[in-house]
Amino acid sequence: MIRIGAQVSLSRGLQETIEEARQAALNSLQIFSRSPVGGQSRRLPDPADMAQWLAGAQIRPLFVHAPYFVNPAAVDALMAQRAHQVLGDEMLRVKRLTGDYLVIHPGHRQKGATEKDALLAFSGTALYLLSKPGRILIENTSGQGKEIGADFESLATVLDQIGATRRVGIMLDTAHAMAYGYPLSTARDWYNLRQVISGTVGLSRIKGIHLNDTAYPVASRRDRHAALLTGSLTAAALGAILHAADEYQWPLILETPGKTAASRREDIRIITSLVQEVLR
Ligand SMILES: [Zn+2]
Repeated sequence: MIRIGAQVSLSRGLQETIEEARQAALNSLQIFSRSPVGGQSRRLPDPADMAQWLAGAQIRPLFVHAPYFVNPAAVDALMAQRAHQVLGDEMLRVKRLTGDYLVIHPGHRQKGATEKDALLAFSGTALYLLSKPGRILIENTSGQGKEIGADFESLATVLDQIGATRRVGIMLDTAHAMAYGYPLSTARDWYNLRQVISGTVGLSRIKGIHLNDTAYPVASRRDRHAALLTGSLTAAALGAILHAADEYQWPLILETPGKTAASRREDIRIITSLVQEVLR
């Protein structure tokens, strides 16, 4: 069975959000534990309650997306320390939420820093996070601006620097992959990307897919998510991705426009109808 989830807003509280996700036939979820752009962090529910709500709705895994307001690739000591503090705290919040993974973007190359310096700084942050309990997933980026970690070769470098551990995996974002320059217009395009992943980070490191279309053309290096099949992604490529998701048991998380599970109805319908077609 393919698990389908979505990034949802917590504005109505966790219990209600989980119930809405269940009603929308979702069985995985991604949330922010706090506002991604900063401000006071919210109070979290009791872990026992959280576990019960998720079990009742049969929702797993639960992904928690890290906030964006710190730079985990900062080379400046003070900024790096701030990133460690905020993201380290986030690891504990994931545990309290009974979440399965913290999903992090590798961050940005600071002015004057080389790509190599930034990747090394990010690996340092990741190692710091691993001093806390829990698992992290590193997400490929669109390469917009000074973003690092858009190509799978640099993600493989980070995995090498971190060293052998099963507590680190990769979250594959299809919108970011296309924005960076990996087309997903045909099934063949997916097989090519799969080859790249297989030859760099390894397919077994992928623990989920952020299944998004991209609003701008392939290789535009602009990060703007779009509803499925309204941008550069085609049904042929999506079908091939769904095949792989079934084969490797990768949960699919929609980060397409919309803030509730219900607003993703059309994307969910596209996936479920394609799943019936390609996995029949
Ligand atoms: Zn994403």
